[in-house]
This record gives sequence, C-alpha cells and structure tokens, in this order.
Amino acid sequence: MAAAKIISHEDPKEYWSLKDFDIGRLLGEGKFGKVYLAREKQSGYVVALKIIFKEKLDKYRYHSHLRREIEIQHSLSHPNVLRLFAWFHDETRIFLVLEYAAGHELYKLLKDLKYFSEQRAATYIASLARALAYCHEKHVIHRDIKPENLLLDMEGHLKIADFGWAVQSSSKRRTMCGTIDYLAPEMIENKEHDHAVDNWTLGVLCYEFLYGVPPFEEHDQNDTFRRIMKVDLNFPSTPRVSPEAKDLITKLLVKDSSKRLSLKKILEHPWIVKNADLEQHDSK
Ligand code: AMP
Repeated sequence: MAAAKIISHEDPKEYWSLKDFDIGRLLGEGKFGKVYLAREKQSGYVVALKIIFKEKLDKYRYHSHLRREIEIQHSLSHPNVLRLFAWFHDETRIFLVLEYAAGHELYKLLKDLKYFSEQRAATYIASLARALAYCHEKHVIHRDIKPENLLLDMEGHLKIADFGWAVQSSSKRRTMCGTIDYLAPEMIENKEHDHAVDNWTLGVLCYEFLYGVPPFEEHDQNDTFRRIMKVDLNFPSTPRVSPEAKDLITKLLVKDSSKRLSLKKILEHPWIVKNADLEQHDSK
C-alpha cells in the first residue's frame, strides 16, 4: 500500500521535507495556516499538507496545544479518524501530512441541506460512536466534536479531524474547553469531567443533524449556559423527527454523566440499528 511508506517512518522529522511532495491546489485556510492538496513524489500517494506558520503559533501561544494534537492524532488509526501520517518542519513552518478528505466539510453540507435525513444522521452518529469508542479505549477524550471538525472522504465516510482540544488521560480533567453549544454541563460548571463529555456532545450533534440547529442555541452565551444546565430540551414539530431519534437524544443529553447512554448502547439503539448504513463504516 502506498501509504505504508509514509506511515512506516518512526521519526518523520528526520526523513521528510517539502522536496518529497508536489504541491497542488489550496484546499482551505485555517487560523494557523493553509492546507494544500499534495502528492508524495515517490509513491504518488495523495495527501493533504497542512502548513502552519510558527509565527502564528507564537502569537496565539499554541505550541503545547499543537504538540498534543500531533502526538494524539499520530497515535490513532481508525477509519473514522483522519490520519496524521507524518510531520516535519523548517525554520518558519510546521508541515502536517494528513489523510486527504476529498468530500464535503460536514458543516457546509448541513448548511446546504438545512438538516439531514434520519438515515444520514444515524450513519454519522454510528461512525462517531465507533470512532469515539476507539479513542476512549486509548484514553483519548476529544472534547471538541462539532460539525466544523468533521470532514467527509470521497465515499462520504465521516472523519474526525482536529484534535486541538483532545486530551490523553485516564483520570478526570478540569479544563474548560470546547465550543459553548456543545459543552456538557460538568464542563460549564468547571467540574471534573471524563470521556462522558463526548457522549453528551453526540446527543447535541444528533439533534443538530436532525433539526439543523444545536438544541441549546441562544444569541446570548449566558442563556445557552443556563439552558444547558437545566437540560432545557425542546423538540420542534418541524422537521418531523421520529420518536426513536428523540429517545436517543434524550438518553444522551442527561445531566448526570454516569447515566448517559454508553457508546456501545448507542450502537445497539433501535434508531441506529434501523437507520445507520453499516457499510459506511465497515467498508474501510
Ligand atoms: P484547518 O486549518 O484544519 O481548519 O483547515 C482549513 C480548511 O482546509 C478546512 O476547513 C478544510 O476545508 C480544509 N482541510 C483541512 N484538512 C483537510 C484534509 N485533510 N482534507 C481536505 N481538506 C482539508
């Protein structure tokens, strides 16, 4: 497999440089730099090359974050987690050699479609539950799952990207992080939290996939906080959503983190079993 060459290097920094790649079109731009389509010259393997400017890292004091992001993402290998094959740097830039996700960005697709069908939503939730079960087994909590961090490959398989807020720890954590709408109550209260914060977020995402907006969205951040703390959950009459889907959401958006549905139980939930396209996550 062509990717094997990239994956097999134990210390990528020693082996790789920009000369190893043909650079193609700009795929997108983030806070710290640009992402280009690229081809590794020897194998012809197509990747996404993320170029991060060290100057910007200094400005936002993001060094330790990036180091953690690289270490975590590089250690993960799952069909629904975007692979980080290698990285290297020169004087001014850091280069991340990433799996190329040729499909849409999930948040753009959601914006275009307004909301997803139950089949599509269930397929994505099942993919996420599997990927998160894999991460949690490795003691990685993502803590920042949101549509903007999810990419799709050519066949429409979901890929978790961006491990900027992830943490590798088997003990409870206390850092406040993540995007407000997706924050679990224990994080808002700055209490200790564990992997169950990702299960809460799956409930928020499931709602957003089916209704087009996250469940606790308000103009004022304090109102969102208040609604999350009360688990002030309403299901609008349109679009029509099945009672089974609402049941799953209700069992994930539970204030007591120990009572949230486990990832295993999500995959066994009747709504997932009925609607998720299993080929979507078994085929790779
Ligand atoms: P980021 O800096 O990670 O926010 O990436 C900026 C943009 O580049 C994203 O919004 C995507 O459009 C694109 N992008 C990032 N990573 C990839 C990838 N692995 N494959 C395809 N496009 C990507």
